[in-house]
Amino acid sequence: MTNFTHTIPANPKIPERVSRLPELAYNLWWSWNPEARALFKRLDTPLWRETRHNPVHMLQEIDEGQLAEVAMDAAFIRQYNKVMMIFDREMSNDHSWFKSEYPEFSDERIAYFSFEFGLHNSLPIYSGGLGILSGDHAKEASDLGLPFVGIGFMYPQGYFRQRIPSHGWQEAVYTQLDMSQAPILPVINEAGETATVSVELGDRTVKGRVWHVKVGRIPLYLLDTNVEENDAWDRELSARLYSGDSEMRIRQELMLGIGGVRVLEMLGIKPSVWHMNEGHSAFLVLEAIRQLVAEGKSYEEASEIVRAHSVFTTHTPVPAGHDTFPFHMVEKYFGSFWNELGISRERFLSLGEHDEPWGKAFNMTVLAMKASGISNGVSALHGKVSRQMWKHVYSVDSADEVPITSVTNGVHVPTWLSSELYFLFNKYLGPDWLERRDDPLLWQRLYDVPDAELWSIHLDLKRKLYVFLQRRTRRRWVDGRHDPTQVLTNGTLLDPEALTIGFARRFATYKRATLVLRDLERLKPLLLEIHRPVQFIFAGKSHPADDAGKSLIQQIYNLAKHNQLGGRIAFIEDYDMHMARYLTQGVDVWLNTPRLPREASGTSGMKASLNGVPNLSVLDGWWAEGYNGANGWAIESDIDVLSNDAQDDKDADALYRLLEEEVVPLFYSRDRDNVPRGWVEIMREAISSNTPQFSMQRMIKEYTNNLYIPAISGRKGSN
Ligand SMILES: *Cc1c(COP(=O)(O)O)cnc(C)c1O
Repeated sequence: MTNFTHTIPANPKIPERVSRLPELAYNLWWSWNPEARALFKRLDTPLWRETRHNPVHMLQEIDEGQLAEVAMDAAFIRQYNKVMMIFDREMSNDHSWFKSEYPEFSDERIAYFSFEFGLHNSLPIYSGGLGILSGDHAKEASDLGLPFVGIGFMYPQGYFRQRIPSHGWQEAVYTQLDMSQAPILPVINEAGETATVSVELGDRTVKGRVWHVKVGRIPLYLLDTNVEENDAWDRELSARLYSGDSEMRIRQELMLGIGGVRVLEMLGIKPSVWHMNEGHSAFLVLEAIRQLVAEGKSYEEASEIVRAHSVFTTHTPVPAGHDTFPFHMVEKYFGSFWNELGISRERFLSLGEHDEPWGKAFNMTVLAMKASGISNGVSALHGKVSRQMWKHVYSVDSADEVPITSVTNGVHVPTWLSSELYFLFNKYLGPDWLERRDDPLLWQRLYDVPDAELWSIHLDLKRKLYVFLQRRTRRRWVDGRHDPTQVLTNGTLLDPEALTIGFARRFATYKRATLVLRDLERLKPLLLEIHRPVQFIFAGKSHPADDAGKSLIQQIYNLAKHNQLGGRIAFIEDYDMHMARYLTQGVDVWLNTPRLPREASGTSGMKASLNGVPNLSVLDGWWAEGYNGANGWAIESDIDVLSNDAQDDKDADALYRLLEEEVVPLFYSRDRDNVPRGWVEIMREAISSNTPQFSMQRMIKEYTNNLYIPAISGRKGSN
């Protein structure tokens, strides 16, 4: 239908017999299928590790002889045929949940806008939870067959790589991604040129070129402003995620919101749902309205139609986490945009007007909420807090009337589940378990797995984590990038037998990474106990402008260096998706200690849980719904009744008590075969209770049934 194409570059090295390997490499589907992952690993294991599991890069580097050899290897060919068969079956649009539930809507399009997408490490365009959620959302939309298209940014320098020198103060390193090694393809127009869209940013016009990413069955389009026609300043616009000042931010948000709508228009895609994942993309509603006004609708009619089509998801109960811009900046960049909408400057500015602590300003969350028929928070508790927090924006008497609902987050099970457990589930849950992963009844079958078998898989995953940590530290040591202190702090002293507690997330202060270190005199005996030691693995980045967050990292780093703590605290630098998989699969306990109720949802704990790693966490975000008394441990806390300091004392005490009285004794209570029976019961309960409820499958079905379908129908009503 469209005249736009994207073509996988020819690779003359690939033998005919395995000619579809590049096609597989360019579709990120491979990353969530264990058979496909195993195929690439088998192709050339050392190169697989060297390219950090990036098959696009790997197929460029691989030795021709190696390719010729595998093309002759019967076992490899069998695996190849099997993978291609599954791939073809899953890419075909004949059968899907969406198609059978909503056959009448298969031609609609749901456009999903997000500032970041965490799909795979080879495409480093994410910083943390928000991006991982978008990536998981897109993958599950593919699995369930939603008519879905994603819009985002291609940041050639990504977020940043974290380095922690021996003084412990985080440094940010930016590296330029080689676009030809990433799983992205330029979109080409009918003239054979790279397709671009233009956006007016005040008195200049900036071009964005368009990239295509294949996420299973669905396309994701990414914008990038590094094109020759742009001035140097504009070429830098999409270089990095979350860097620069608010001027940079508003320009990026204009490019994403307005440019994104223009990409869809150019490609001939007419969405019937606009989903704004966080307020960054909210300018899209203005462009959608402008296009309708240009077709002859009045502003009132156009904005009503867009409202009926739009869905907005808010992600943070922390006021400073919402983007706001001074009015003069909005005026500077929008030029005379309001004339095109047929409204006054005052009315235009009022769309996002909000009282901030420093005065009135333009708030992107307010714009998004007012422009959407429905908004949602990302857990039940977060929905409730958001209704209270934004009540003043709506003319309602009580918070209950605020049109903000909630859909609790989930994680994409095939992405985050270890291959070891995937094969175990194949064996015990039946061959269709993956299609039924959101069905709680299915998970009762987990009770057929013998304790010793589940425990032995956990021990394998724990060993894999240690090998992973040692291998990456050894590589840096050999490359001369580490001094001896850094070798110590990055986990080489960890004890593979000891109870291992993981804490990895963004180092924002509300996450209270150092809570467990609050009373060292109480913690020390736990760490240094000879027969029942406890150890901690920390990881996570702090935003480059957040000195408070960096100071938390430094405090932990200093303890990791401290010989009195015996190497029982490690700080692993450069947390990313790749490491997140190893950590959430391989530690014994996943710790989370946010200040209630600042953690809107949290998702890393869900990844841990489905891998049989129980949570030890404050009852905030998802865990307030996920904890059932038998699948982990809850740290009781209160909402802002005490001073921060008193609250921290109280919460730390509760945490130490749980460790001393429950977690440590249970972990070390073994039977004759050295299996911790009571512990394995908690692992099993964590998997069976949390996996269905916090699977992305449950989440996408809820978004579809409760938000997308009404938005699609709303449009039909108003047309
Ligand atoms: C899952 C994940 C997150 C989100 O974790 P939270 O629990 O929401 O803090 C952040 N970063 C990475 C790399 C992840 O994989």
